[in-house]
Amino acid sequence: MKYTDYEIPSDLIFKTKDIIDMGGLKCSCVLNAKDFADCKDSAGIIKKIEIILSFSLLSKEVLVNGCVSGISEVECSRCLKPFDKKFKEEFSQLYSTKAEIIDIMYLIRQTLALINGIQNLCSEECKGLCPFCGCNRNEVSCDCKGPEFSQFACLKDKFSKK
Ligand SMILES: [Zn+2]
Ligand SMILES: [Zn+2]
Repeated sequence: MKYTDYEIPSDLIFKTKDIIDMGGLKCSCVLNAKDFADCKDSAGIIKKIEIILSFSLLSKEVLVNGCVSGISEVECSRCLKPFDKKFKEEFSQLYSTKAEIIDIMYLIRQTLALINGIQNLCSEECKGLCPFCGCNRNEVSCDCKGPEFSQFACLKDKFSKK
């Protein structure tokens, strides 16, 4: 089998034997964003997702290098407004040549799970929500003056008295 004729399995579970027969494989494909709806908590609502894969044969192992990228809708950590964010993560994994299958879908899901934890900001300058009236400070300006201001004023008094 030549690798140009090779059809990428739709479930992304590759047979190790096919990869060995072809002497390795390089491929890329666009995935169905809907299949990743369950990754919402970690990666957001995925709108576009694609992968680039490279399988290299080592003496007793198959080395998989991959890159998953796309666009997902996430919530701004400061103002809570949803926005589209690009993501791009690389992964690599070794598989024994004796393993029957190479489950790339599993690797992609593991990689998407790791996207979580990064602070999502709609912009570096996001002003966030007002802690007093809850308005989005990027869109409206309010006149709230919180206790934080008076507290600082107190401290200032204390210091100046010394
Ligand atoms: Zn924001
Ligand atoms: Zn306010």
